[in-house]
Amino acid sequence: MVVVRNLSKWYGAHQVLHNVSMEVNRSEVLCIIGPSGSGKSTLLRCVNFLEDFAEGEVRVGGRLLGYREDLKGRRVPDSRENVARVRRGISMVFQQFNLWPHLSVLENVAQPLVVVQRKPRAEAEAKARQVLDRVGLAAKLDAYPNQLSGGQQQRVGIARALAIDPELILFDEPTSALDPELVGEVLQVIKRLADDGLTMVVVTHEMGFAAQVADRVIFIDHGAIVEQGPPQTLFRNPGSERLAQFLETWV
Ligand code: ADP
Ligand code: MG
Repeated sequence: MVVVRNLSKWYGAHQVLHNVSMEVNRSEVLCIIGPSGSGKSTLLRCVNFLEDFAEGEVRVGGRLLGYREDLKGRRVPDSRENVARVRRGISMVFQQFNLWPHLSVLENVAQPLVVVQRKPRAEAEAKARQVLDRVGLAAKLDAYPNQLSGGQQQRVGIARALAIDPELILFDEPTSALDPELVGEVLQVIKRLADDGLTMVVVTHEMGFAAQVADRVIFIDHGAIVEQGPPQTLFRNPGSERLAQFLETWV
């Protein structure tokens, strides 16, 4: 579903991703863990082409993202239409929920479908109802974001991500902004989506969740993949001092 090959990215002179290669298979849950500032968000944003990258390639469903080869085999920026076409199947859920405060829960989910996908309003609202039901918010359609708990707000964020029927959902620390007692309900929703076979990449500091839900875990440090493998292996037998230390501070 996703193939990243030799991806490198710089911010000015500062290299934040070093030759990253990874794959995500269909219906797989990949968790990315690593210290703050190690490049997790940047990697996720490259996979969604919210960031461009200087070297390497990202393929989603076999299609190159962001760049293409010209007739002479040189790497050139792809057309906006092609980029948009590849990105269409990818949703992202952020740490901050980014809900519109002046729109109801239903409208927060339906509105992007009307504006971006040009769906008729009735159809958009039907879809919004369906995905809000899926995240357990069928009773909150008319509420406004400030009437919801943080966990409920993030579930609206997840519903919004689901509404486009994505092939892939990228989660960037979806529970980091939540009070501890609200983390569980959001992870539960994400776990249910995993059980339904959605393909997802989850950047998280919730090691218990990663251990339970991830098919594979990638540990990234200083912009490079240090280790990857099934959670049982990584968490029980870290193969590097850096991961062992990281786990000690987080678990
Ligand atoms: P993580 O998500 O693992 O905490 P990030 O991907 O956010 O890490 O950041 C990786 C590195 O890139 C950090 O050193 C950070 O300071 C730097 N960085 C992130 N975004 C930008 C930006 N827009 N401009 C310059 N540097 C950035
Ligand atoms: Mg981050």
